[in-house]
Amino acid sequence: MQCQQWCNTRPALSRLIQLLSCPLCDSLMSDPCVLNNCNHHFCRRCIEWSISEKQASCPICLLPAWAKDVKSDRQIGTVIGCVSSMDSHILQGDDMEVLFLIL
Ligand SMILES: [Zn+2]
Ligand SMILES: [Zn+2]
Repeated sequence: MQCQQWCNTRPALSRLIQLLSCPLCDSLMSDPCVLNNCNHHFCRRCIEWSISEKQASCPICLLPAWAKDVKSDRQIGTVIGCVSSMDSHILQGDDMEVLFLIL
């Protein structure tokens, strides 16, 4: 019974982690930010670097994006805080390999 529940929870959790991951550095966003024009999310560090060092556009959809369009998203930050504490708790178990297979 317990195993059955995990089988459903883990793909959902890994999907959630995927959604909360920064497409630029491929890990959970730190200081998550959203672009005004297209609503794509990135770490503040990643998107600021991307906008200042490369073209002034979203790296995902290529819509124009400027430094002033980068806004902190505290709600996402709160969710990431919850997920990352849950994630490290799960990773402490013996089933670590299984989780990595799903991820
Ligand atoms: Zn990043
Ligand atoms: Zn975009």
